[in-house]
Amino acid sequence: MTAQASASGALPVTDAGPDPALASTLAPALAAQGVGVVIDGATLLDGVDFDARPGEVHALIGPNGAGKSTLLGVLAGDRPAASGSVQVEGRPIGSWRLRELARTRAVLLQQHDVFFPFTVGEVVAMGRAPWRGTSAEDDDERLIAAALVQTDVAHLLGRTVPSLSGGERARVALARVLAQAAPTLLLDEPTAALDLRHQEDVLRIARARSRSGDTVVVVLHDLNLAAAYADRITLLAGGRVVASGSPDAVLTGERISEVYGQPVEVIPHPRTGAPLILPLR
Ligand code: ADP
Ligand code: MG
Repeated sequence: MTAQASASGALPVTDAGPDPALASTLAPALAAQGVGVVIDGATLLDGVDFDARPGEVHALIGPNGAGKSTLLGVLAGDRPAASGSVQVEGRPIGSWRLRELARTRAVLLQQHDVFFPFTVGEVVAMGRAPWRGTSAEDDDERLIAAALVQTDVAHLLGRTVPSLSGGERARVALARVLAQAAPTLLLDEPTAALDLRHQEDVLRIARARSRSGDTVVVVLHDLNLAAAYADRITLLAGGRVVASGSPDAVLTGERISEVYGQPVEVIPHPRTGAPLILPLR
């Protein structure tokens, strides 16, 4: 696993990574104010404020049906908001051309099944499509190779995607998104199908990208992964933001117990001090 160079180059990179204080002064890569989404009379999102900045991993957490995927879709520009506004790099999302948007943010959907028998190599190469006809094409081979290695699927290169295991497919889908080399990553449950090592790999990649100046928004169910890797966490429930802030501030035992309907205790990790969320059993 090697840190990947910033796709955007937005932040000066030092060995220690960007200064979080500096990151907090940069304009958000993504921002939403008062976003509402209603479908067939059902309110999926209601008055949601959100922002994500270069240099940070921003985790979106919340129970099933909270609206996490819906919000990610709005932030990606894949789904219209009925109310409120969304800006990408300071510009209203509606003013972006599709191709421009595809060079700016890469999206890993929760459902990413490939039904046609494309090979792993073909699928990952599709991530480069937004750059066709530009000088960035020169980087295709290098970025595809790096994404294959980072996600540990290089040995599967010639296999067809339908022949892979669920976890292998999920890693190929992530490789395609990484190869896109957009400065903002929107990842919907990228760890759901993965074993322990590959879950940690995904969050290490997310952190490396953020530390080189990119912006990462990641939906996670594993609260301990969020606690360990996120710079900021936004907790959604019932289409509303319940809390947003540092892992310490958001992941309190009382709040998590109430929102998830499952009693938990939260203790500081004995070595790192990060919150550890333990269901009461
Ligand atoms: P999450 O990703 O947090 O689990 P989603 O954003 O996928 O939640 O969905 C939020 C809620 O909206 C869920 O209760 C889901 O059933 C509902 N929902 C999603 N899409 C539709 C739709 N097209 N019509 C009606 N309800 C929907
Ligand atoms: Mg979802």
